[in-house]
Amino acid sequence: MPWCEPCEKNWTPSSLSADGTCPDCGEPVEGTPGVDHEPHKTPWHFWVGVVAAAGYLLWRAIEGLLRLF
Ligand SMILES: [Zn+2]
Repeated sequence: MPWCEPCEKNWTPSSLSADGTCPDCGEPVEGTPGVDHEPHKTPWHFWVGVVAAAGYLLWRAIEGLLRLF
């Protein structure tokens, strides 16, 4: 349910402004899809960590293989 913090009021999605802001105070209303920062987007630094870990493991695998010979 969209909740406006300044007004302390619950809004139905259809009673909000078209851009997802509160009709009373004009603030972005919490719980409105598209207003909050994209919730399921993976942050870029996560992929930096994944690439670093994958590169490290790959390097260790190559190193381990080289020691066999
Ligand atoms: Zn409001």
